Amino acid sequence: MATQNTINSNLLKGRIIAHVGKALLIEDDSGEVFRCHKRSKLEASAVGDFVLWEKIDDSTGRVEEISERRSLLSRPAKNGSTRPAAANIDQIIAIVATQPRSDLLLLDQYLVISENQHIPVVILMNKTDLLDSDKGETTATILADYLALGYPIIETSAKDHLGLQPLLDILHDKTSILVGQSGVGKSTITNALLPDLNLQTKEVSQRSGLGRHTTTSSTLYKLSDGGEIIDSPGVNIFGLANISEPDLAYGYIDIRRFAEQCRFANCKHINEPKCAVKDAIESGELARDRYLRYLKLLDKLAI
Ligand code: GDP
Ligand code: ZN
Repeated sequence: MATQNTINSNLLKGRIIAHVGKALLIEDDSGEVFRCHKRSKLEASAVGDFVLWEKIDDSTGRVEEISERRSLLSRPAKNGSTRPAAANIDQIIAIVATQPRSDLLLLDQYLVISENQHIPVVILMNKTDLLDSDKGETTATILADYLALGYPIIETSAKDHLGLQPLLDILHDKTSILVGQSGVGKSTITNALLPDLNLQTKEVSQRSGLGRHTTTSSTLYKLSDGGEIIDSPGVNIFGLANISEPDLAYGYIDIRRFAEQCRFANCKHINEPKCAVKDAIESGELARDRYLRYLKLLDKLAI
């Protein structure tokens, strides 16, 4: 992590807002963006990393040091290894909708990462305008299991600009990452939150030297009233990187609660005798659907 070898008075503070090819886009304290390369000895970097860098000219620089991170989300990489995906995140905004149908397995995956990394999560139900009231569809019924577990849940209809202020309040003065399956409305929400998005994107593309900024990598945007959001394309931004079988059970806060009472300390809650988790399902204290998703993710870990 941070190396203390050189005390260089020319070093400036900055934050990585995007990776473009091998270059990094660094935003300095005044909001100016510079295209930088990093010293080859430096470890892999992530969007959201705070850095110390040196200016080369009006638009370029060199990153000398990556500052210590308060949190790090990783993504799966080749050969079972992981790579940093986003750094210094204060909260995860996990977005769901009814169209495409809520992927609760993916939501659980985000929650497992959130619990294990100790990064708070807020569940955001977008497209509330599409809820079918004739069928009695509400956010509370669709997300009943999560509501019961105490996860914070908010609602938006990004298309109609509804619910944006409560969302902005939650995002205030924090660095948040927006995640969710493709089509839930991540870009629509980002656009609605950032009236000057085109300006920010233009600045980024000019500095990247690529003409048009490609949205293949995560980008950090500043909110006008304080706070930053990281827009992460691709659902699998962190997958189940670094998650072991015990971590998975820990990440299901409802399973975790009963697991301590299982006969075997290494119980996986599949078909072991005297499993308190399975007993809790039979007694109705633990949601069966959540447990079934736990088993699916357990299978996925084994691959
Ligand atoms: P992303 O893949 O998560 O970035 O999703 P997009 O932002 O591209 O949105 C996918 C589609 O859903 C687009 O056609 C949007 O116009 C639409 N959409 C986004 N938010 C809402 C909403 O609140 N209500 C409705 N009805 N449609 C929305
Ligand atoms: Zn058990």
